[in-house]
Amino acid sequence: MSKGWIGVDLDGTLAEYYGWHNGNIGKPIPTMVAKVKTLLAAGQDVRIMTARVSCKTRSESDASFQRLMILEWCKENLGVPLQVTCEKDFLMLDLYDDRCHQIIINTGKDAAEVATARANLLLHQYNELLARFDSHSTEPYEQMIERHKVEREENASIS
Ligand SMILES: [Mg+2]
Repeated sequence: MSKGWIGVDLDGTLAEYYGWHNGNIGKPIPTMVAKVKTLLAAGQDVRIMTARVSCKTRSESDASFQRLMILEWCKENLGVPLQVTCEKDFLMLDLYDDRCHQIIINTGKDAAEVATARANLLLHQYNELLARFDSHSTEPYEQMIERHKVEREENASIS
C-alpha cells in the first residue's frame, strides 16, 4: 500500500451524470465501481474528488449536505463511506476524472494524443507491409524497411 491517496471524481466518472437534476447523484458506473473496489481491496486510500463539496461555488451548508449525500451514496454503492474532498495535495497519487487530459510528465505532451499517434503509425506501417504483398506495390522491400526505420526515429521524438 502506498502512502498517498487516489482521487476519483463522482459525476460522470463514478456515477452517471446527465445534468444537475436537483443535485441527485446518478446511478453507479459498474466499471469504475469495480475499479474503486479493487483499489480499496489492495489497501489504497481512495477519496471522492468533487466540486460538489467546494465552498467556493456553494454555501457551507449546501456543501455539507452534498458531503452527506455522497457518503450515503458511497455506503450504498461501494460498501464504505470514502473521504470526500475538492482539493489536491502533495499526497494525491492519481486522479480518475472525466474532465482530465493526462500530460506526460515534464513534456507538455498529451498522453492520449501520443498514444493515438503511435497507434496510427503502427497501423500505417502495418498497412504498408500488407501493401508490400500486393502485386501493385512497386517499392522494393529493403527500401520500404529503411523508410520505416527513418519514420520510427522521427516519431521517437513524439515521446
Ligand atoms: Mg465529472
